[in-house]
Amino acid sequence: MGKPIDYLIVGAGQAGIHAAQTLLKQANKSNITIVDDDPDSFYYRAALKYMVKKRVGEQELNGATESFFKNKRIDKIAQKVSAIKPSDNSVILGDNTELHYNKLLIATGGHSFIPPIPGNDIKGVYPQRTLEDTRRICDLADNGKFKKCFVLGAGVLGTELAESLAERRVDVEIFSNHKIMVPRMLDSRASEIIVELYKKNGVKIHFEESISKILEDENNNVRGIETTKGEIIDCDGVFICTGMRRNIELAKNAGLNVERGIITNKYLQTSDPNIFAAGDVVEIVDDNQFHHFIDLWGPAGDMGKIAAKNMMEDSKPEPYDIGAFHAYTIFWKHNCHVLGDFAPKDLTGIETLIYDKKSSTTHNYYKIHFKDNRIIGIISLGEARDPIILQHIIKEKLPIPPNISKEEIIERGFDYERILYSKR
Ligand SMILES: Cc1cc2nc3c(=O)[nH]c(=O)nc-3n(C[C@H](O)[C@H](O)[C@H](O)COP(=O)(O)OP(=O)(O)OC[C@H]3O[C@@H](n4cnc5c(N)ncnc54)[C@H](O)[C@@H]3O)c2cc1C
Repeated sequence: MGKPIDYLIVGAGQAGIHAAQTLLKQANKSNITIVDDDPDSFYYRAALKYMVKKRVGEQELNGATESFFKNKRIDKIAQKVSAIKPSDNSVILGDNTELHYNKLLIATGGHSFIPPIPGNDIKGVYPQRTLEDTRRICDLADNGKFKKCFVLGAGVLGTELAESLAERRVDVEIFSNHKIMVPRMLDSRASEIIVELYKKNGVKIHFEESISKILEDENNNVRGIETTKGEIIDCDGVFICTGMRRNIELAKNAGLNVERGIITNKYLQTSDPNIFAAGDVVEIVDDNQFHHFIDLWGPAGDMGKIAAKNMMEDSKPEPYDIGAFHAYTIFWKHNCHVLGDFAPKDLTGIETLIYDKKSSTTHNYYKIHFKDNRIIGIISLGEARDPIILQHIIKEKLPIPPNISKEEIIERGFDYERILYSKR
């Protein structure tokens, strides 16, 4: 056995790359190896939608070319890691090479969940997780191969994809099991506003209705679907946007503690002290035993940095700051920010104020939950906002200053940042 690698990272996504960059800066005499099985990595996964929208080309999504890895003195191995052997501090690659490490980071992200619908393996049924998936979507839309298609799932990815396809003049409809759009972000009123925008742009949404079967033609291509209401509709393809599953198999088979993700403490350390995890794959258990799933681009990079620092031998352990929840997307030029506890389950002591006004161009909808003279959660739909101050206010539990009323916050179109500034 040769000298072990100081820091071995599995996964060159947002979390893995940020970990490598941090180690490069702060542990610069160490050797770092990163192993990844996506032939295209590293690219800005969260920006893939902009490729379907034709806002960016493939080149602009490329975050690290092969020369990046060479210049930065990081060894990159383009292979799948097939096993981790914690008792030997080693991993096994797809070609059976064994690599020994001192510290290991698992940053394997997730994969698209494909529901077990008959016909889900027919040519023309596709998810969107990778750059290769996105190239295929663009090709199908651009070259008239998909004239009519369905998107299964009305979460953020499904709604964004349907909008992009509609912009590319594909006739597209969405199916969702739920009663509202993007239920992890919106309430029923916000959903109504968004549904109007989709309708106006020719996209039909089927709520509480799904696809029960995908039908095949004689060339093994999709020819249509059967809905859960028994209707048969012709189409050229189906895009599956029904969520993500964490890539936990490696950790599970290695005997690490896993549930829906790889369990870590707040320092992103797994049940093996030499193994850390970061990004989408993680399920953080905080000091109060709450389990957190984050699944967002910015936090994946932050977790990569924190995990890297905590992997360094003489570092003072730094907890990952979960912060106030923040999710963001855009529906037909309407910015949507959701912050903090935007749908509180326990309404005791909660006051909720709503602003709901439509102009000729934008529908602004703000729903703010207050508790103990503090803002605890927000749904903000419409004009562009800078969420950073709001996130800070929620996280730090800052009280509303005495010279500002809650009604004023709402009446002035929820321009809280400006109100705070003007009253200083
Ligand atoms: C289409 C799309 C749009 C999105 N839009 C947004 C958005 O607008 N805002 C937002 O905040 N987030 C968004 N996200 C989520 C965001 O992209 C993820 O949170 C982020 O990419 C997670 O980074 P990661 O490094 O944890 O995992 P990943 O990006 O999944 O990277 C993991 C890497 O590990 C590799 N890997 C996995 N297993 C192995 C193995 N056994 N051996 C070797 N390599 C392996 C994978 O190939 C991959 O390259 C979006 C995601 C998708 C799919």
